[in-house]
Order: sequence, then structure tokens, then C-alpha cells
Amino acid sequence: VKKLRLILGDQLNHKHSWFDETDKEVIYFIAEMRQETDYVVHHIQKVIAFFEAMRNFADWLEERGHFVIYYDLSHPDNKHELSKNLNQLIKAHQVDKFEYQLPDEFRLDQQLKEFCKTSNIKTEAHDTEHFLTSRSDLESFFKGKKTYTMEYFYRDMRKKYSIMMLTEKDPEGGKWNFDQSNRKKWNGKPEIPHERGFRKDVSNTLKRIKDAGIKTMGAVDEISFNWPTSRTDSLSVLNYFCENLLVHFGDYQDAMDPDQVYLFHSRLSFAMNSKMLHPLEVIKKVIEYWRENKNQIDISQVEGFVRQILGWREYMRGMYWMKMPEYRTTNKLENHNKLPDFYWTGETKMNCLHHAIKQSLDHAYAHHIQRLMVTGNYALLTQTNPDEVDEWYLGIYIDAIEWVEITNTRGMSQFADGGLVATKPYVSSGSYINKMSNYCKSCEYSVSKKTGDNACPFNSLYWNFLFEKREHFKNNQRMNMMMNLLNKKDPDDLEKLVNRAQEIIKNPQNF
Ligand code: FAD
Ligand code: SF4
Repeated sequence: VKKLRLILGDQLNHKHSWFDETDKEVIYFIAEMRQETDYVVHHIQKVIAFFEAMRNFADWLEERGHFVIYYDLSHPDNKHELSKNLNQLIKAHQVDKFEYQLPDEFRLDQQLKEFCKTSNIKTEAHDTEHFLTSRSDLESFFKGKKTYTMEYFYRDMRKKYSIMMLTEKDPEGGKWNFDQSNRKKWNGKPEIPHERGFRKDVSNTLKRIKDAGIKTMGAVDEISFNWPTSRTDSLSVLNYFCENLLVHFGDYQDAMDPDQVYLFHSRLSFAMNSKMLHPLEVIKKVIEYWRENKNQIDISQVEGFVRQILGWREYMRGMYWMKMPEYRTTNKLENHNKLPDFYWTGETKMNCLHHAIKQSLDHAYAHHIQRLMVTGNYALLTQTNPDEVDEWYLGIYIDAIEWVEITNTRGMSQFADGGLVATKPYVSSGSYINKMSNYCKSCEYSVSKKTGDNACPFNSLYWNFLFEKREHFKNNQRMNMMMNLLNKKDPDDLEKLVNRAQEIIKNPQNF
């Protein structure tokens, strides 16, 4: 039986059972397609990283004796549309059976289901063998429950995979969660051991993208590309993290600094989301390193990291499959404003936003708290349409694939799902940003001022948001304290705050 097997750009799983044996009757197909480069404006580094990783994966398969057809952007047979490319190959190679791995994106899942329905050859979908839960496990776990608390799911995963467990039921270290110890500001110490980087020359790939006229955003250093694009690269980022960064990961997880892009974060999201690394492999390696170095590395650093991957990452994927496609249009807070133009330039006087956005444009990266409490916080406080917010996040980050982007953005950050992912909106005034970052001391605005020309815009936006959305929060217990404070505000003071916030929302470019 002659088989055609599709490998999508985010299915670069070297350990997949498909590749255990070579078979000359099997054609593996990998393609750089306009349908993937054009559904949103992506960061240039993201497009390069995917294309480089796909090409490296194809080379790896070929070295092992597999037969690969690779369409680059300018391949003469490339129709740039998945179904057309598949039909053409099936005909040209007299294929009897088409096989694919279940896509992680709803859009591609629909497209492939449609393709199989209309195809007159046999078809079969396989698991990607990447995630630690199936598409529907989360839904089953929370069946009959009104709330979907991540913590319970995470504990169950710890037990199921026997990760950091003292006994079958009890967590190592006596508690499940060490979050409270992960809240330090970074003041220049401890020193961050900077990664040497890969410094790859990606000028050929960049040229191909430019020649094809693909619209992208952001900057790239074409002779010093720094993202992992092979399994070897990915393993070296993982090792680097264990040996140099894990020791302070938890402590500085929420910290922000104008000059430090990565701080103690792992930079592993692209390697995992493209499946070059398996989540369990990452978790096990980190735990193994910690066990060997227990006298230097505290459990809190490790548990915080494990929770992100074993907990949040799997949880978001489950939420995506439970709630799509409705999730894509949910807008429970009824926010309709436009995302300010400065999200594409970084040109704003607000120092926190300036740095978080500029860094995202320069590196296709911002860490979780920058995404949540700076850019996401501002977008929510200014009541931005979640469609616009999603589009920006889906484009700009190296790791942005819809299943993990939309659940984090629309759910966790914009509260557009009405509280499925987050039990209360992640909003704050300037004081939180000041507590966790070094942005405010060199900002034109004064973080301690609420109103007046040089008052930090986040302060008035925060109270205005609570005021304008009060109806939405009146039954949310977790918002009670904030709503009580709002209700106690002097009406004149509140009016001043609301007026200033309205000015900012109307004319964001002036701030
Ligand atoms: P580290 O801080 O080193 O964390 C380790 C790993 O944990 C990450 O590589 C990631 O795989 C996982 N992880 C951490 N937090 C989350 C989370 N909330 N959800 C899922 N996995 C998590 N992550 C993406 O992979 N793709 C996205 O498109 C994406 N969009 C986001 C949008 C917003 C608004 C927010 C608030 C968060 C988003 N995240 C996204 C989650 C998180 O910010 C990134 O995974 C992380 O910053 C990647 O950097 P790192 O690899 O250095 O992570
Ligand atoms: Fe951001 Fe306000 Fe701090 Fe300026 S003062 S950096 S705008 S939080």
C-alpha cells in the first residue's frame, strides 16, 4: 500500500512511532505554504524558526532513510493550499492511503476532516504522541463541575504521572504549590548567566520569505539567529536551563526588567510547541537535574516550572478542545475598542509598555508576566476587542499557536470567556508593575499619582475598568474586595479617575 503521510510544521516529533521503521512505500510530506504564513501577520522570526525547523526535520528523516517530499515556498508544484497539494501528490504518486497526525489547531482539524470526507482513498488520523492528555481528558475531568480550577487538574496530573510525589497521594516537599515563594523583584542580582546563543545564519530562509512577498512584523538578525530549530539545539536549550537558570527560575518568574529579555525563563516554548521536545522529557530532565543538585536548588524553583508544563500547558490545550469554536468569538465583557497603533512600534511614553512591546518586536519573545500584566493588562483595561488582542498575540510570539495563544489571551488575560480559565480578571494599577519590575523608575509617569498630567495611566484605567464593568463583577466573590473599595471611593475622585481614563482610551497615542 502506498501511503502519503502529512507532517505539519508543528509536528516535528522525532520520537513519533511513525519513524521507527523505514518503508519505501511511505511518502512523508512537509510544506511551507501561504495558507500558513498568511492567516495572520506573523513575526519574521516565527516564520523563519518554523521553516528552519521543518527543513532540519526533513533532513533528519532523510538521513534515516525515509522518503520525504519537501515543498519550500518557491517549489514549482507548491499550490500553497493543503488540500490542493495533497490531491496533486495522491494523483502523481498513485497513493492508496492518506495518513495525518491530529492537528492541534481547530482550523487545520476542520480542513483535514473535510479533505478526508471528500477523498476517494483510505484515510487515517494518528495521535501526535506529544501531549500528556488527550483532547477530551480535561472535559472528562471536570464533568459536572461549574468551575475548572487548574490546581485540581494539576494535582491529578502529578499523581497520574507520578511526578514529584512522596507517596501515591502526597506531594514531595509537603505541599502541591510553592507559588508564594515565587514573587521576587530582580535588582541586578543574582547575575543572569547569558546563553551563548546559536548565532545561526538564516539569510537564505529570510530571502525566500522576502522574495515571496510575505507580510511579517518585527525584526531579525539574519546572521545571528538564536532560536532552537533542531532537536540538538532544543536539547541544548534545555540543558542550559537546567545548569544555569533553574536555580532561580521560581524566584524571578514574575520579575521584569527593561534590559533583561529572558531573565531566568527557559525559552523552551517554541521547541515544545513545534514538538521537537516532549513535555515529559523536559519535566523529567529538570527533576533529574534538581535531584542531583538538591543542595543548591530549592524545590520551589522546580515545582513552579513543572506546574507550567504539566499543569497549565495541558490544561490550556484541554480547554481549547472543550470550548472551540465558540471560544474564538467569546467576548463576555463586551469590549470593542481598537488595539493602539503603538503595539506595532513600541512608541509610547509608558515605559513598561514601551519595553515589553519593543522587546517582543525585536525578539519575538516576552515572558508570561509581561504578556499578562503589561500588554494584556493594558489591552483589557482599555477594553480592547479581544479579536484584535488575539490577532496581535497570535502573530508576534515565537511560540504562538492558536491552542495555547487563544486560551491564554482571550481566557486568562482578557477574561473574555467570563471566567473559565481565570477566576477573576488579571488587571492591576501601576503598583503591581512597580512591585515586580524596574520600569517605573525611568518612566515619564509617576506610579504613585492617580490623576494629573504625569499620573501613571494604569492607575486611572484600573478604577475606570472596575467602574465601567461593575455589573459583570457584582456576583464574582473574588472581586468583592476590589468592588467594595470602588464603592467607597469619593465620587469626585472617581469622576476624575474616569475622566482621565476616558482621555487615555480615546487618544492612546498621546500617552
Ligand atoms: P517559561 O517561563 O520558562 O515556562 C516554561 C514552559 O511552561 C513554557 O515554555 C511553556 O511551555 C509552559 N507555560 C508557561 N506558562 C504557560 C501558560 N500560561 N500556558 C501554557 N503553557 C505555559 N505560551 C505559548 O506557548 N504560546 C502562546 O501563544 C502563548 N501566548 C500567551 C499569551 C498571553 C496573553 C499570556 C499571558 C501567556 C501566553 N503564553 C503562551 C504562556 C507563556 O507566556 C509562555 O508559554 C512563556 O512565556 C514562554 O516562554 P518560556 O518558554 O521562556 O517559558
Ligand atoms: Fe508603566 Fe505606570 Fe510604571 Fe510608567 S509608571 S512604567 S506607565 S506602570
